[in-house]
Amino acid sequence: MKIKKDDKVVVVSGKDKGKQGKILVAEPKAGKVIVEGVNVATKHQKPQGQNQEGGIIKVETPIYASKVQLVCPKCGKVTRVGYKLADGKKVRVCKKCGAEI
Ligand SMILES: [Zn+2]
Repeated sequence: MKIKKDDKVVVVSGKDKGKQGKILVAEPKAGKVIVEGVNVATKHQKPQGQNQEGGIIKVETPIYASKVQLVCPKCGKVTRVGYKLADGKKVRVCKKCGAEI
């Protein structure tokens, strides 16, 4: 999986197409990610105890990583991730502007 936590991505298919958000959780094994504000499910919560009110809470649920594309933090464009070697380490680079990400 080429994207990881805290990456900014845009959704390219599905009902949330066009939405942008930050990766909150990356699940490489499942090939899924949770993106801030994307694929939000509403849950009704019952009041618990005396001080907590019940109500509707919103929770992001995972979507397939293939449904999102990275937004480069440097050039701000939707891009694909490339790799290069720097000091013997593999680093991710933006395929549009070449910046390390
Ligand atoms: Zn870029």
